[in-house]
Amino acid sequence: MNRYVKVHPSDNVAIIVNTEGVPAGAMFAGGLSARESIPQSHKVALAAIAQGGPVVRYGQVIGRAARDLDAGQWVREEHLDLPVPPSLDDLPIATAVPAAMPPLPGYTFEGYRNRDGSVGTKNLLGITTTVQCVAPTVDYAVARIRNELLPRFPNVDGVIALTHTYGCGVAIDAPGAQVPIQTLRHISRHANIGGQPLIVSLGCEKMQPARLFPDRQMFTASAALPPVLEHDPYVIRMQDMELRGFGEIVAAILRFAEKRLEELNRRRRVTCPASDLVVGVQCGGSDAFSGVTCNPAVGSAADLLVRAGATVMFSEVTEVRDAVHLLTPRAVNQEVGLALIREMRWYDEYLSRGYADRSANPTPGNKRGGLANVVEKALGSVAKAGSSALMGVASHGERVTTKGLVFAATPASDFICGTQQLASMNLHVFTTGEGSPYGLALAPVIKISSRTALAERWHDLIDLDAGRIATGEATLDEVGWDLFRLMLDVASGRKKTWADHWGLHNTLAPFNPGPVT
Ligand code: CA
Repeated sequence: MNRYVKVHPSDNVAIIVNTEGVPAGAMFAGGLSARESIPQSHKVALAAIAQGGPVVRYGQVIGRAARDLDAGQWVREEHLDLPVPPSLDDLPIATAVPAAMPPLPGYTFEGYRNRDGSVGTKNLLGITTTVQCVAPTVDYAVARIRNELLPRFPNVDGVIALTHTYGCGVAIDAPGAQVPIQTLRHISRHANIGGQPLIVSLGCEKMQPARLFPDRQMFTASAALPPVLEHDPYVIRMQDMELRGFGEIVAAILRFAEKRLEELNRRRRVTCPASDLVVGVQCGGSDAFSGVTCNPAVGSAADLLVRAGATVMFSEVTEVRDAVHLLTPRAVNQEVGLALIREMRWYDEYLSRGYADRSANPTPGNKRGGLANVVEKALGSVAKAGSSALMGVASHGERVTTKGLVFAATPASDFICGTQQLASMNLHVFTTGEGSPYGLALAPVIKISSRTALAERWHDLIDLDAGRIATGEATLDEVGWDLFRLMLDVASGRKKTWADHWGLHNTLAPFNPGPVT
């Protein structure tokens, strides 16, 4: 049985479902025959398309035919000319705001409630760093904390080093520097480390601890352990005169770590409404199925989260840019619509400064997976945003506090997007077509495959298979509900993601659009 998926009634291309692809001459229900062999997830022309004519998928023009195309032909990247992106000057704003969806009360998870109102999905000791120079020292200390201290604190899930490449050798007062600084500030107060870190600083670096915590009193290693207020961070400065040698530095880190572990060990999971979830969604290693299976299934789950009163963030500017005309009408008001346009414009300018544009986005893997260009990728990507009204927009590295669907601006780069979403999220959902072992230490990452073949091959890396949608074994809404329930289980610690099972945790990668000195 030869099958293809057509998304919208006006589409003149569809993607091949058969795992092995289809051979030349393969007949489809409805009378179409393949003129050549076409791989799985690649596009077949459903009708003849004249040179210059629109190639339509998702009901949108994904390109112009670069040559005459016959019905049944394999429509490849080189057959499409990239259209210009939607103009940012005359977009309709708040013209089609979706009506509020019926509330979905009664869904809860077991989380760690913090005094700042945030809710943790893990209970971790996080050691944050102000500069890359101290990263190996912190890694060394973390290994000792894990072996020597952690066994005595059974209610603490783990200890993690929040190391990164930022902090010095940068123009710290340049406007772009606010992006990594804000991101790291919010990560240092992440819900899963109780809103409070232990900070290791070198001493001479550009990003001084006070830049991360301008409003807090600091307790340094040289102070005798004071009657510490639980919301103030502890700081170890390696260059402090009181610390003689590496041994004393590590001992100081361990001393503060023990104090922090005692506090964290007193925390207990309590029943929290699903509205306390802040879920970041993104895709990585997408294929042409992503836009019809895993991404709309995430969109369906996003709608359930919105109905339950939670926050859902979608991101990845270069994958929203070509679909922005579909999103500004959904903005709840002018202010939100204009903020979305402002983020698109900022990124257009950022790319043009590097002599690039949004066509730099698709990867060789995306193309192998059947995605012809960034327009097709974007139209599939924004399906993750579901169908509710756009309630807010956050700039790079800002913490999101709005409930409902929010666009949080980030690059599309998986590890940078994830790092920036960590400024706000306590749970992460990641869709993939080609496959990625991606994970984060700070928040659980649920991975969803676009194709069953990937879920079967990577049975111990993929948490949920959305490929069942393409084969007709499950509906979008069924997979959306499966994901919603899985999110509540993972957020409660009842289920472990495969990334956490194996300890696959990508390094933090803050986005620094500012100059390096
Ligand atoms: Ca991505």
